Amino acid sequence: MQAGTPEERVRQLFQALLDAFGPQHWWPARTPLEVIIGSILVQNTAWTNAEKALHRLRSARALSLRAMRSLPLFELEQLIRPAGFFRQKSRTIQSFVAFIDREYAGSLHAMARQHTNVLRLQLLGICGVGPETADSILLYAAQHPVFVVDAYARRVLFRHGLIAEDASYTDVQKLGSAALADYLVAVSHPPTHNLDSHTPTPMSRKTKSQAVEAFNEMHGLLVAIGKRFCRKAAPDCNNCPLLALLPLSARARVPGI
Ligand code: SF4
Repeated sequence: MQAGTPEERVRQLFQALLDAFGPQHWWPARTPLEVIIGSILVQNTAWTNAEKALHRLRSARALSLRAMRSLPLFELEQLIRPAGFFRQKSRTIQSFVAFIDREYAGSLHAMARQHTNVLRLQLLGICGVGPETADSILLYAAQHPVFVVDAYARRVLFRHGLIAEDASYTDVQKLGSAALADYLVAVSHPPTHNLDSHTPTPMSRKTKSQAVEAFNEMHGLLVAIGKRFCRKAAPDCNNCPLLALLPLSARARVPGI
């Protein structure tokens, strides 16, 4: 089961995760703007904290471009305080709103129609938006087929001997993209493991291309395995559905095994 090219092995991991946990219904949001604001709020914090901040924005009727434009910086900071780094994140949110108004006349639909590479560069030009946030926006808000590299993806791929510990974002993304761009997501039986996956939302239910579907699920599944089994300090390999795919030669990379 461990033989094959790195791309084949990534596909094996993906299918094993899908069989174990089933679809994850990312991104948990009602609108593209909610995805974008959520992808900024979740930087350097747990999703539960980002969710609290989103809830406060929603309760204050501030989760629209129109409301964001007239919301004073101080009020925005107070509303998103639960997400941490609230001053920096408020500025990033305001910079995004200025960007969408300047480049796309305030239209998220127009933004989504932009070429992937062009839009990615534009997003990376916004202060506070790094590669992971830009790719989350591309994939989940604009439905572009990009592989999102986060700490969970790095951890699992490193521990399974598929990337170096200091692999660049671009190199990890290239591997994920090459492995999954043509992969057909197929769920043939109920998941073998119970997991609290997100409830389907208008954004997660959107019709997607095959590649967007694969990248979408892989990201959600890597988050799931990272939280439940492949924890940073105490991985639970013995009960993990990916144990059969962990090469003997890579076990020294896993603490405590
Ligand atoms: S917990 Fe162990 S078997 Fe599971 S993904 Fe992490 S390294 Fe692999």
